[in-house]
Amino acid sequence: MIEEMRFRDAALAKRVAEKIRKAAPSKDIVKICHVCGTHEWTITHYGIRSLLPENVEVIAGPGCPVCIVPASEIDEAIELALNGATVTCFGDLLRVPGSRLSLLDARAEGADVRVVYSVADAVKMARREPEKRFVFFAVGFETTAPSTAVEILKVPPENMSFLISHRLIPPAMKALVEMEDLNLNGFIAPGHVSTIIGMKPYEVFPRDYGMPTIIAGFEPLDVLFAIYMIIKQLIKGKPQLENEYVRAVLPEGNVRAQKLMREAFKVENGRWRGLQTIPKSVLTLRDKYKKYDSRRKYDLQVECSVDVPPGCRCHLVIVGKIKPTECPLFMKACTPRRPIGPCMVSMEGTCRIWAGTIRP
Ligand code: SF4
Repeated sequence: MIEEMRFRDAALAKRVAEKIRKAAPSKDIVKICHVCGTHEWTITHYGIRSLLPENVEVIAGPGCPVCIVPASEIDEAIELALNGATVTCFGDLLRVPGSRLSLLDARAEGADVRVVYSVADAVKMARREPEKRFVFFAVGFETTAPSTAVEILKVPPENMSFLISHRLIPPAMKALVEMEDLNLNGFIAPGHVSTIIGMKPYEVFPRDYGMPTIIAGFEPLDVLFAIYMIIKQLIKGKPQLENEYVRAVLPEGNVRAQKLMREAFKVENGRWRGLQTIPKSVLTLRDKYKKYDSRRKYDLQVECSVDVPPGCRCHLVIVGKIKPTECPLFMKACTPRRPIGPCMVSMEGTCRIWAGTIRP
């Protein structure tokens, strides 16, 4: 049997769900938060919430790297594109709304906006077309930041620069746990981010906040095991950090990738769409690479921006305070075909994932 298929075994999933039901406290609400679009996809696609007791709730935090980019940074990319730069980005960024336009709208107005599959592709384009100014709009968490760092450290061509919008997951988890009205009881930490950062950055959650924290993979049984592990810790009253995803995550993470990130980037306070400013949560280019920093190279200044369009509840969906179905626009004015908020655009956005389960 293919390794991953073992983690989709329906009979075993039912047995783990039964164990969760038996172990869960009978009355107290248990609210578990994950911070990963892929976890949300697994939970929604496999109907994992329907297997849980009513008082065990799993909510989606800010795990979509596209949804949490503030509108002002989308506006920066659009500003560059409308002023003659060739802006390259991953496909799921194209339709994310800025305060007035999306990059797709800018392309319709004649801007040169190109989808790439990797940052290396963007650099290759810049080398092939030296007469043009290229920008790579670098969005993503710790999983994608190392590949941006690699290209910056390899000395890109003079006509290449980077609009850095990389963000870090553990500071966002800290912001969530400190939100008093969320009342979280445990974290499912994202497996792929953890392959890079390892276990150490999560130690703070059980130690300082009493939060069981389980690093989990993306198959249905990974998620069910993680929920069971959290509940067992809650019952014992011994919050711990544990690694369910041992087949991919080393305790120390990917040390080489961490080194590349440290060489290229520094960590600063920064805004997240829906979460406002989070201390030490965004990456910016170190001064020695400032000539590759699109913001400094082109002295970018954008006007104040609208993060949340009128009527949209993305700021509440992003932190798990409401479900997509509680937004009055969900699958009415806002659909995957005509998204209003960022959570309906990317395949990792919670509204987009929930929309995918609704039959027309
Ligand atoms: S349904 Fe659309 S408008 Fe409502 S929260 Fe989701 S993305 Fe925003």
